[in-house]
Amino acid sequence: MAENPVLKIRPFRVAELTWETADTYTLHLEPQDPADMITFKAGQWVYLHLMNGDGTVWARAAYSIASAPEESGVRVRLGIKLAGDFTKKASKLMPDDVVGIQGPFGVFVLPPGEGPIAIFAAGIGITPFRSMIRSLEATGQTRGVVLFYTNKTVEDTAYLEEFDALAKRAPWFKPVFTLTQDRPSIWPGESGRINGEMLDRHIPNLDGYTFMTCGPKSFMEAIKFMLEERGVDTRARLKQELFG
Ligand SMILES: Cc1cc2nc3c(=O)[nH]c(=O)nc-3n(C[C@H](O)[C@H](O)[C@H](O)COP(=O)(O)OP(=O)(O)OC[C@H]3O[C@@H](n4cnc5c(N)ncnc54)[C@H](O)[C@@H]3O)c2cc1C
Repeated sequence: MAENPVLKIRPFRVAELTWETADTYTLHLEPQDPADMITFKAGQWVYLHLMNGDGTVWARAAYSIASAPEESGVRVRLGIKLAGDFTKKASKLMPDDVVGIQGPFGVFVLPPGEGPIAIFAAGIGITPFRSMIRSLEATGQTRGVVLFYTNKTVEDTAYLEEFDALAKRAPWFKPVFTLTQDRPSIWPGESGRINGEMLDRHIPNLDGYTFMTCGPKSFMEAIKFMLEERGVDTRARLKQELFG
């Protein structure tokens, strides 16, 4: 029986590794054989396989693709936050090292239609949304997107300048950055955790919105509770991705 192409472990070479913050990096990967490029939807994830010297698999972990399908060409970009041994080992990858990519997987993708979307991302939970937001821009879509994005500090906020720049050229995109620890003396964003009062100020009327969230479990539960307090049917209107 033919192998399911999604399950094939495809050899990709490291093209580049760039640091977004002190503990978050982007891994830029290209298939060794261009025919091995994967076709994915914004928001989907892949397994990244780290290899032993003899070509066998050392270990694998799941990563949302942080780039948009339309811009990917023969590159896939993963946004990875340092945590344990796996992410430390991956952070030491050098150009031309070979990894395995398997996928894409997942159904956490842009909701169909033209309706506005409110996104709630915590920390590295931003990656699937970076793909979706870049995809919306690349395809010329102008459905409203409000991005609530929480981090401890400015320095921890991956892709901040990129989202700021997009907001300046894309009237449909409104990022709301919030910092839960230190904030600079001049800081145009919010401070503290995302809460109902903050939500109401930025989106006074939730009618028609689809809600999406990604981050730690406790964060996602708090977002769900906040929406339910406002009468949102979260089973129908809230989409969630857990990095667990
Ligand atoms: C759908 C999904 C999407 C995700 N997207 C992202 C994302 O975009 N960005 C992100 O940063 N995280 C993402 N994650 C989380 C990610 O999969 C890892 O859980 C996270 O990076 C933690 O990595 P770690 O270094 O602690 O490795 P671990 O979670 O500790 O390990 C990862 C794997 O490596 C193995 N391993 C670890 N250490 C060793 C060792 N010493 N020897 C042999 N094997 C070992 C483990 O057994 C495991 O199989 C996502 C998770 C899911 C489920």
